Amino acid sequence: MEQGMWHGLETADLAQALDANLDTGLAPGTAAERLAQIGRNELSEGKKTSPLMLFLGQFKDFMVLVLMGATLISGLLGEYLDAITIVAIIVINAVLGFVQEFRAEKSLRALKALSAPMAKALRGGDIVVIPASELVPGDVVELESGDRIPADLRFIETNSCYAEESALTGESVPVSKHCDPIKAADIPLGDMRNIGFMGTMITRGTAKGIVVRTGMNTEMGKIANLIQQTETMETPLQHRLEQLGKILIIVALALTVMVVVAGILHGQPAYEMFLAGVSLAVAAIPEGLPAIVTIALALGVQRMIKRRAIVRKLPSVETLGCASVICSDKTGTLTQNKMTVTQLWIGGRGMDITGEGYEPAGGCFEGGKPVDIKHDQSLRRLLQVAALCNNATVTKLDQDPDAIKRKKSKTAVVQDEWVLKGDPTEGALTVLAAKLGASAKSMEGLYKRVKEYPFDSERKRMSVLVTHQGGRLICTKGAPDMLMNQCTYMLWDGKVVPFTATLKQKVNDAAEKMAAGALRVLGFAYRELRPQDASEVESDVENQLIFVGLSGMIDPPRREVKDAIANCRRAGIKTVMITGDHQLTAEAIAGQLGIMPRGGIAVSGQQLNEMTEETLDRLADNIFVYARVSPEHKLRIVKALQRKGHVVAMTGDGVNDAPAIKAADIGIAMGITGTDVSKEASSLVLSDDNFSSIVAAIEEGRGIYENIRKFIRYLLASNVGEILTMFLAMMAGLPLPLVPIQILWVNLVTDGLPAMALGVDQAEKDLMQQKPRSAKENIFARRLGWKIISRGILIGVFTLLAFWVTLRIRPGDPQNLVHAQTVAFATLVMAQLIHVFDCRSSRSIFHRNILQNKYLLFAVLSSVVLMAAVLYVPMLQPIFKTVPLMFRDWCLVIVAAGIPTFLMGIGSVLGTSNKKKTKWPLQGQKSIAR
Ligand code: ATP
Repeated sequence: MEQGMWHGLETADLAQALDANLDTGLAPGTAAERLAQIGRNELSEGKKTSPLMLFLGQFKDFMVLVLMGATLISGLLGEYLDAITIVAIIVINAVLGFVQEFRAEKSLRALKALSAPMAKALRGGDIVVIPASELVPGDVVELESGDRIPADLRFIETNSCYAEESALTGESVPVSKHCDPIKAADIPLGDMRNIGFMGTMITRGTAKGIVVRTGMNTEMGKIANLIQQTETMETPLQHRLEQLGKILIIVALALTVMVVVAGILHGQPAYEMFLAGVSLAVAAIPEGLPAIVTIALALGVQRMIKRRAIVRKLPSVETLGCASVICSDKTGTLTQNKMTVTQLWIGGRGMDITGEGYEPAGGCFEGGKPVDIKHDQSLRRLLQVAALCNNATVTKLDQDPDAIKRKKSKTAVVQDEWVLKGDPTEGALTVLAAKLGASAKSMEGLYKRVKEYPFDSERKRMSVLVTHQGGRLICTKGAPDMLMNQCTYMLWDGKVVPFTATLKQKVNDAAEKMAAGALRVLGFAYRELRPQDASEVESDVENQLIFVGLSGMIDPPRREVKDAIANCRRAGIKTVMITGDHQLTAEAIAGQLGIMPRGGIAVSGQQLNEMTEETLDRLADNIFVYARVSPEHKLRIVKALQRKGHVVAMTGDGVNDAPAIKAADIGIAMGITGTDVSKEASSLVLSDDNFSSIVAAIEEGRGIYENIRKFIRYLLASNVGEILTMFLAMMAGLPLPLVPIQILWVNLVTDGLPAMALGVDQAEKDLMQQKPRSAKENIFARRLGWKIISRGILIGVFTLLAFWVTLRIRPGDPQNLVHAQTVAFATLVMAQLIHVFDCRSSRSIFHRNILQNKYLLFAVLSSVVLMAAVLYVPMLQPIFKTVPLMFRDWCLVIVAAGIPTFLMGIGSVLGTSNKKKTKWPLQGQKSIAR
């Protein structure tokens, strides 16, 4: 088939040309064959760094090159053993660095794959959700508002469908799409209104299309190289640390030069001092820091995935720890989204509906007595609208063998053996109609749907146009307050009467009563169109409707959410509910969940419309519920909270939520019900749509940040200790306390493993009882800088003391110098390995169980064993210039190594705790009249 001819074909020819079946889709086997033949529906990726390049990259560090040069010189001077050992250490270091970076990169790639797009395809007669990369020409796909079009396709069905194609055509206004053939041969892409292009977005309505081109053959594929953007995955902290790294290099180099100069001035051999200087510089520069930060982030992100939060943008991990407000949708996030109709209100009569879940078993009772449904015209009309204006189906599991498969692919919700396909609000109405004998099945053949006017959270209603016995009928359901504006009549006692202000008040009162009982309320209306009402335009058909009645459905809060909200409060994080639902429903649910404190305010979208920015800013801290809001309100709310200095997390699922999600500091999309648009705008996706997962992610985010601070503290304090030992010795005119190879060894065995183990350390118990940290906080804040300097100085001073004490036994004896250097080496290693446990706590070593982090224990034990090997294996002694230490030496080593950490620990225990408990974030107890 000619590339550009798909738009001209009739639907039947289209199916033939693609050897496809429009009713059942491709058979799974055929699809697999085509996939093998044509290849995946993917745009080719940019170049990746090969593992070899990654490994070689480890040697491009300037100081490593200098060290290698220095080694070469010592090799040429005949110091073969030294040269070989240093090269071995450099290689091992590079291997470690490579493993760290490779792992980090692999995890980042896995994260990207997790957020890969999915598509709803018709395969073997069943709708399945598959990775968009598995689509092949001939696949029939279903699309709805918010979906990104997964391949080039020709529409075969459209309902008020609009697509935003600016990426391809430059046209920023969404264009309407249809499914009729276009006969003109040579037309620009912008005019191909019956073609959906890969990568563009459905902004309104629903559609069905047949895939005609995939992967690099699509229009997007043709320009793929032009639009390929590599998203930066570097977080602000990583960036800042990179800057810090540069400063540290300069400081380390300056100090090293001072050490070398001081050494030479005090009579040390120049060559030895040069090698010691270079080794010191290599050891003191925290070159592993960026990789360890990436690993800590990536592993943290893996932990978040287990807790159902998928991070799309790595920088948000940091921001998560700063979140001070979570703005959450209600339906499905705070509540279960498992709806059941429990009440009806029709023409002044209240009715109760019995039965639970999706099982269509139950009845309708008025004042405790069963209602005679057959003869109740008004009730039957309501059921008719509920069943016709509906896209959800509910079937029994054993009658729907593919349900399990679909459950796995998230297109269905299974509850007590009953399978709901579609929107739960509509599912509840399907079940209601089935319970009362008016199921869609029973109406099959009698009514034919001509057109759908889809629901969206802006209109808050949905209509269908159906033909029936030669006439046409419009059925509408939606939020009562909105729907009433479209109604001029009402059904009262089976008669159509004018919808007077008194009747409207009655409907309002009934709706408010239901809403106050935490029910989700929907209104129902209809109109039989006259033959002259030919227009099918939304504004023409959705008016002069006859109001029928109301339904109230329960949607129980998610069980775990109440605790999660209480957790947030303790963590100084405010929870705000933002919902399209009725204000009273929202308030009632907020009350059940403990969102609304005394003095808290609920405002409606309408009140929000009337508020100036100043008033909103003034009240923002006290508003806990925003009800009946439209997505565009969300943006205003985010901005107001941000102006108040909050770091805002905001959830959303629809197309129109995208701007608010983007503007929020942490945009959160729903993994199950969310549209592609919202997911792409978000930095976090909840795989279970559950509020508690946000709180889990925040907890992990805080933990990751603290772990990063822990190993920064460890690495830098160790480096300060190393440099200071050498520096003070040179200043005091002492011989070298550590020989170059020992310095490199300390760097290798004490830095890498323990620091990585700190990166996966368990969080402190009170992590979620502290206020969120400020987004502007410096990484060295909360006394971290002081801890690094003070511990570093103590480690350096006590290492030197141990060296000096040993040296004084027989000053001037070269054999004793080796002994003293061995003591200094052991003291430095042990001091760091003891200090690493101190780094786990923001207070002191005594505040945490040192056996808790198994990785750390393993890392420390291996470092001790390796050090013992260097001291006691006779073959290694000449290489590392060590002698075996005696019991007396060890006593000195342990005391000198332990003092820095224990001294500070005792100080901390004696001192008062500087932690303050967080207060409830609500300031003042204001309230406004509604
Ligand atoms: P959120 O998820 O933001 O908490 P919500 O899901 O309750 O909000 P919307 O989906 O915008 O908010 O629904 C708003 C109102 O629209 C509901 O209270 C209900 O009256 C009505 N409504 C919801 N779903 C449908 C539907 N499928 N057809 C018609 N009306 C609906």
